[in-house]
Amino acid sequence: MPSLSALLCILPFLSFVSTQAPPSSKSEWASNGVGAVVKVPNGGLNSIPYSAYTKTKWTWGKLPQHCYNAAMGGRCNVYDVEAYDIQYTDCSEVNVMCRCSNAQVSIDQLANDFGRVPVKARQWANYVSAWSAPSCSAASNDQKIDIYGDCNDQVGVYFHEVAHSLDGPLLAGIGAPHAWSYGQEWQDLVALDTCVADNYARASYAESWAQVAVMAAYHANVQDIFTVSPSVGCIVNQVSKVIEQIVDTPIFRRVAGQTCDRWWPKDPTVCMGPEAEAAGACIGITSTRAGRRFVA
Ligand SMILES: [Zn+2]
Repeated sequence: MPSLSALLCILPFLSFVSTQAPPSSKSEWASNGVGAVVKVPNGGLNSIPYSAYTKTKWTWGKLPQHCYNAAMGGRCNVYDVEAYDIQYTDCSEVNVMCRCSNAQVSIDQLANDFGRVPVKARQWANYVSAWSAPSCSAASNDQKIDIYGDCNDQVGVYFHEVAHSLDGPLLAGIGAPHAWSYGQEWQDLVALDTCVADNYARASYAESWAQVAVMAAYHANVQDIFTVSPSVGCIVNQVSKVIEQIVDTPIFRRVAGQTCDRWWPKDPTVCMGPEAEAAGACIGITSTRAGRRFVA
């Protein structure tokens, strides 16, 4: 069964090393994973509202560089990648989303579930994509979120990946050498507690922070995390800090009328390849023959 414990996360800055009571030395708050807890009651995070959107499919033949690269890396036949402009009503900037035609997550499921993340957090991610895989996992890198496999009804995955986008540029600062969660303050908070969120949180400081961020999303949008079972007593220092950082602010709390105030540079638009060029679908894009790469 897919769960948050199946997440694969690629972070741009993992060189910081700690020696003090690392997450791997801690017990687990949620023995079946945070993902199981945040599904209740009544769907939990899966049932919170999403921002309305309109979608516009790109004409076949052109792709954002990120999606082209993912396909050429083996995720999909490049000619089977679909790109969409997703325009949420709470942001004037579009999110470009891609999916392979055989991805388990449809474009509307992708837009719905990403849209459940409140805009003040969602705006820290840029591209979102979905690809076929045997089970649910996801990755976050450079403000780009990739969803692999059947991650439907796994909204915690989206909050987890957006959390990585917050941990870097929002909390540590744009261009910072490492995520905030690799700093001394988070290490000290983990050391103070007797548990981390779940088994996946034991992987690193970044994963421990992101899993507590999912707990914070639940606290902000579903129910008071301090009233759930199991008690958060063993993780209270971590939970209290992350609530202070992203719920009180209120980045992870949906508030009516919130709009975006941040956007990111868009990737170059590239041609899918010779078949698209031959079909006249890449007019306006300058091709560079080297390596069959087509760069705008
Ligand atoms: Zn992660």
